[in-house]
Amino acid sequence: SKETLILLYGGRSAEREVSVLSAESVMRAVNYDKFKVKTYFISQAGDFIKTQEFTETPAENEKLMTNETVKTEQKVAPSDIYEKDAVVFPVLHGPMGEDGSIQGFLEILRLAYVGPNILSASATMDKLLAKHVFSAVDIPQVPYVAAYADENQAKIHAEVQEKLTFPVFVKPANMGSSVGISKVSSLEELEAGLAEAYKYDNRVVVEQGVVAREIECAVLGNGGEVRSTLPGEVVKDVDFYDYRSKYIDNKIEMAIPADIPNEIAEKIRDYAEKAYQAMNGAGLSRCDFFYDEKGNIYLNEVNAIPGFTQWSMYPLLWENMGLSYSELIEELVSLAQEAFKNRE
Ligand code: ATP
Ligand code: MG
Ligand code: MG
Ligand code: MG
Repeated sequence: SKETLILLYGGRSAEREVSVLSAESVMRAVNYDKFKVKTYFISQAGDFIKTQEFTETPAENEKLMTNETVKTEQKVAPSDIYEKDAVVFPVLHGPMGEDGSIQGFLEILRLAYVGPNILSASATMDKLLAKHVFSAVDIPQVPYVAAYADENQAKIHAEVQEKLTFPVFVKPANMGSSVGISKVSSLEELEAGLAEAYKYDNRVVVEQGVVAREIECAVLGNGGEVRSTLPGEVVKDVDFYDYRSKYIDNKIEMAIPADIPNEIAEKIRDYAEKAYQAMNGAGLSRCDFFYDEKGNIYLNEVNAIPGFTQWSMYPLLWENMGLSYSELIEELVSLAQEAFKNRE
């Protein structure tokens, strides 16, 4: 009989739309000889709503239900998703998806799940905490200043002026998809940039802006056994890879593999694997780097549940290594089952 794969999508975070696209891609690409798929939409309010079930490849125009199409009477108790031996794929980004909370919930339910565990999810989600871990394992990063909403803001302004040069990037610590991020070009703009980031998190990173190529590396595996891909490049014709350019304008081109020297690619893979292990990575991660003209490499961040549509960087990096999107999903399910066995 077929294994059950449960997709959780939507979610409470500002990245919920990206989650729906990723989940739709997964739902279409699953190998239905092996799996059947149950789906649950998590609304912005946090309700779990039972949506479609698939036992065979859905029609190409089939969409997963979202706010506009769900009926609230399909609402279930979160624990109702439980099914013995099922594997959950929380295709959720950002807070309440990628930050350890849903992972903890799934562990309490004693379900196998794809992707980061509680520790790796929460640690990678917090850009400030992650920086401490990366520096502890000697991975280069750009200079930054930590800013907290409840701190004296004049002190933060002074520290930014002292340690960094404009432009700087201001980011909420716990977000993704560039939500809440601004590029700040002068001290006058800093207050507005901070205010925008504080909308999403009390913890904010002010980072030295660099002029650099953006190189990303995909990592797959549990704990000690980690595999990485040849890196890819996000080729921007925009100044900054913001939400709009990522998901609305489709202005992003990817070069896979990235056209960079071999020794740089090797170094990036090495840093990516090292960062992943240091964060107790499980399942998958996409490690994002900057590579500048002087040859410097800086780790920007690790994304524990990266964009996962069929045309997203993470799956395309694996495809370039010979692992198709459907095979990648199966691999992630096996890793989830392996992690589950080790826990139980
Ligand atoms: P993701 O969707 O990759 O999870 P995110 O919201 O976590 O994104 P970052 O990757 O940290 O955010 O930043 C988003 C984009 O902003 C980067 O891809 C890059 O284009 C730009 N950026 C961020 N930090 C810097 C920096 N220090 N210097 C130059 N550009 C930067
Ligand atoms: Mg990110
Ligand atoms: Mg992210
Ligand atoms: Mg990024």
